[in-house]
Amino acid sequence: MDVIGMDIGGTNIKAGIADSKGQLFGEVSVPTPVKEGKEAIIACMKKLIEELRVLRPEMISAIGIGSAGRIDTSAGRVVYATDNLPGWMGTNLREVIEEACSLPVFIDNDVNAAAWGEGWLGAAQGSSHYVLVTLGTGVGGALVHNGQLINGPRGGAGEVGHLILYPRGTPCNCGQAGCLEQYVSGTALNRLARTVNSDWNSYDLMKQVAAADPRAIELIDRFAEELATGLISIQNIYDPERIIIGGGLMETHPLWWDRLASYAVSGTLVNMHIVPAQLGNRAGILGAARLALDHVTVS
Ligand SMILES: [Zn+2]
Repeated sequence: MDVIGMDIGGTNIKAGIADSKGQLFGEVSVPTPVKEGKEAIIACMKKLIEELRVLRPEMISAIGIGSAGRIDTSAGRVVYATDNLPGWMGTNLREVIEEACSLPVFIDNDVNAAAWGEGWLGAAQGSSHYVLVTLGTGVGGALVHNGQLINGPRGGAGEVGHLILYPRGTPCNCGQAGCLEQYVSGTALNRLARTVNSDWNSYDLMKQVAAADPRAIELIDRFAEELATGLISIQNIYDPERIIIGGGLMETHPLWWDRLASYAVSGTLVNMHIVPAQLGNRAGILGAARLALDHVTVS
């Protein structure tokens, strides 16, 4: 039995066909047509689905979608989304895609999908209690408890990027101030890098860390301490067996992982198990496929 897994982000739409063992076929990634708006994004999704179905005629039995934003999984609706996906808020994605493709569609948040993927084939294999924290443009989180994704009644559970690290700290677009996301996301690192050198972004910062520039080291050390502080709070709230760290910033993790681990050890008496994600940018497609497989296998 094959399904389509699709990952909708503000930058790219990724999709592929997955079988029940997690083998991927026909993997594609196209830029999300954000400037053309919601209808263009939906048209792009439909086109990718049709192109994939041609590769495995009669073999596809369902579609799993992980989308940025807060998702009401039972209704298949996007409850909240930022302008990274214009017009996305309120869209009943399941209804729209089911009508167009005549296949059952299952939808969840993109970070939840990635967590499901890591549990199936990646760093969380064998664990029923884990948290995925993604460090990218923002900071995302997903909770798996007793082998189940925890969404919350309004799709808002696991928003670990908005744990408050510093009262009256840097204002956040969520309306709070001092959120973790304002210190340990890629966006935050770009901003912090500029405070050291106006020509730097986060990539320059990492290059300077590798070159042992003391100003860059000081900044990345603070980043590691702040991230560890956030993870300690997550550990205390959810008591996960593992905390998996994923997202684009993980490309640079050899430059800061030891510092993170050291602050996590010195900051708490609780034994934390922090591990890098393993599936990279395929986690979302694979997790979305797994969501679909779980439903069609059960029914
Ligand atoms: Zn916030």
